[in-house]
Amino acid sequence: MKIIMLGAPGAGKGTQAEKICDRYQIPHISTGDIFRANIKNGTELGKKAKQYMDQGALVPDELTCDLVVDRISQPDCAGGYVLDGFPRTIPQAEALDKALKARGEKVDFAIDVEVPDENIVKRMSGRRACLNCGATYHLMYKPPKKEGICDNCGSELVLRDDDRPETVQKRLEVYHAQTQPLIDYYEKAGIMHSVDGTQDIDKVFADITAILE
Ligand code: ADP
Ligand code: AMP
Repeated sequence: MKIIMLGAPGAGKGTQAEKICDRYQIPHISTGDIFRANIKNGTELGKKAKQYMDQGALVPDELTCDLVVDRISQPDCAGGYVLDGFPRTIPQAEALDKALKARGEKVDFAIDVEVPDENIVKRMSGRRACLNCGATYHLMYKPPKKEGICDNCGSELVLRDDDRPETVQKRLEVYHAQTQPLIDYYEKAGIMHSVDGTQDIDKVFADITAILE
């Protein structure tokens, strides 16, 4: 099962991707997590990506597409995967389709987690992230067991630099201009589904599993 998560920044793509991957035992591939791990490790890719991420802009397609195509070619992806945060542009979607087509494969589901912009800034200011394992929490809606500490790996939780309100605003603009057109793209492909992302986390997940099953 190959699944793409769509939605504005902060809509809950990562939260739901984690639950889908737990349930179906498939890998969770988040390009944002891959870039943040590269930034943390001081790689060349990390240095380049950071300049864009700090501005709320997208990392250029040429730095992003090959990375994902390589990742989905790994043996652990043979039984499917959830792509979270990729594709984010039409050229990325086309690059993915081309790579899959070459192997006689295709995406099975594109799921849009719908949350209006008004709710997003509030959600993002409460998000806390673990830069070690990629887990995400929320001060109100999904608090960690111990304040400020990741349940999974015990690392310290942080407010991501790009979750500050001024950067979130910019990311929303980028989302509407460059990523939202993908909804039309996957509708034409006949695999587009939407869920109401303003519901509580478990209800959103129940709606997603109903689509997948
Ligand atoms: P995305 O991956 O789309 O950027 P996240 O999954 O990181 O978004 O979610 C953004 C923030 O909102 C996180 O702090 C997360 O815990 C919280 N969150 C996710 N889904 C919900 C929901 N249905 N209701 C309330 N808060 C949520
Ligand atoms: P995310 O963790 O998905 O919210 O992504 C954080 C940031 O990483 C985005 O605002 C972009 O700057 C960058 N990024 C993540 N995925 C992509 C992608 N597919 N294409 C371009 N930039 C990306």
